[in-house]
Amino acid sequence: MKKKGILVVVSGFSGSGKGTIMKRLLADHADTYALSISATTRSPRPGETHGQEYFFVSREEFEEMIRQGALIEYAQYVNHYYGTPRNYVIEQLEQGRDVILEIEIQGALKVKAAYPDTLLLFLSPPGAKELKRRLVDRGTEEESVIASRLSRAWQEAQGVENYDYFVINDDLEECVQEVHSIIRNEHARVARNHVLIETIRAELRNFAKGE
Ligand code: 5GP
Repeated sequence: MKKKGILVVVSGFSGSGKGTIMKRLLADHADTYALSISATTRSPRPGETHGQEYFFVSREEFEEMIRQGALIEYAQYVNHYYGTPRNYVIEQLEQGRDVILEIEIQGALKVKAAYPDTLLLFLSPPGAKELKRRLVDRGTEEESVIASRLSRAWQEAQGVENYDYFVINDDLEECVQEVHSIIRNEHARVARNHVLIETIRAELRNFAKGE
């Protein structure tokens, strides 16, 4: 019997490097993980392509997706909508892949409420100064947007206790390895292995009866 994948939510302050970490994780373990591609109403940054980083849609298109129930969750983040299309996630979990949602905290909590066995990871840079430096160095946002994102980071920091793991992204390689290990370990939890445990118990019972 094929085991279902685990739904993994990865959040982190804007500038925590989570995009880079997730791309790397997927490149290293393409058969194990699937990354969900969200829909958003924000404009593409230079280098971003429709269908790759996001599905870039209009406000009307997004609201239509909400009406049709096509999203597992959605949230507003600094004046734009972001949401997770449902079909891809369900399909990949059924195929046994661990599906990663790289989403902010409101969405993370909605996913956890709908799917209680979701694993929640929070990524953080080593400190707030480093976070600001990364946002400024990225050079893709205006100063006012950076200020909004820092203020949002402060709000999100209040919700970290809702997560299962807090991972520091200081060194890229180490962080990718740590996230991978956390997810692998999660598969070994007793609570996620009831069916397998029952099967082995039944076999042992038969042996014990001398069959
Ligand atoms: P960015 O504009 O920097 O790509 O993303 C802004 C924030 O929105 C990030 O914290 C990102 O994780 C989050 N985000 C991206 N996609 C989704 C989504 O589908 N749902 C929710 N709730 N948040 C998302």
